Amino acid sequence: MLNIVLFGPPGAGKGTQSERLVEKYKLIHLSTGDIFRANIGGGTELGTLAKSFIDKGQLVPDEVTINMLKSEVEKHPNAAGFVFDGFPRTTPQAEALDAFLASLNSEINAMIALDVPEDELKERLKKRALDSGRTDDADPKIIESRINVYKNETAPVKGFYEGQSKFHAVNGLGSIDEITERLFNTVDNL
Ligand code: AMP
Repeated sequence: MLNIVLFGPPGAGKGTQSERLVEKYKLIHLSTGDIFRANIGGGTELGTLAKSFIDKGQLVPDEVTINMLKSEVEKHPNAAGFVFDGFPRTTPQAEALDAFLASLNSEINAMIALDVPEDELKERLKKRALDSGRTDDADPKIIESRINVYKNETAPVKGFYEGQSKFHAVNGLGSIDEITERLFNTVDNL
């Protein structure tokens, strides 16, 4: 299996680039943000719970997120691998993912981070707010909170994968195609 964690702050381009990776390497795209939004749209209990955190720019609690992620992985027993997009976002999530994949005789092959400066992220999120329909993109205060949560809770996850020599970074500035090319090079050299 080829299991990749695509990492980066909100607005780094994880969703767009995940689609490219999924197509080229025939993987399953698992975006915890997309799954939460689908639950919100479907009016499920999980959606109601998730919305109360998402609307404040906070993380959904680990236990809820981890259980959801596991059941999504289990829906694809014959997958060639996964692109994890927006997960893990905390060190306990990373530990749980390792243990879960080990139970499936698998592992994370690489975490690849998209490097984008903060000013550019804010610009991108402002533009995305115009057509994404995401309420958490539209409010500068929520964006600020998401970026702070990223710095405090999510950025340390990098160290977890560095400790396993699985961390790679690519420049997230440039055209979408240029960034895709950098990602493909990184994956092909794993
Ligand atoms: P995203 O689409 O990845 O930007 O996620 C949107 C929101 O969903 C985040 O701001 C969090 O509130 C929530 N979320 C997504 N993934 C996670 C995760 N792995 N852990 C906790 N909350 C998450």
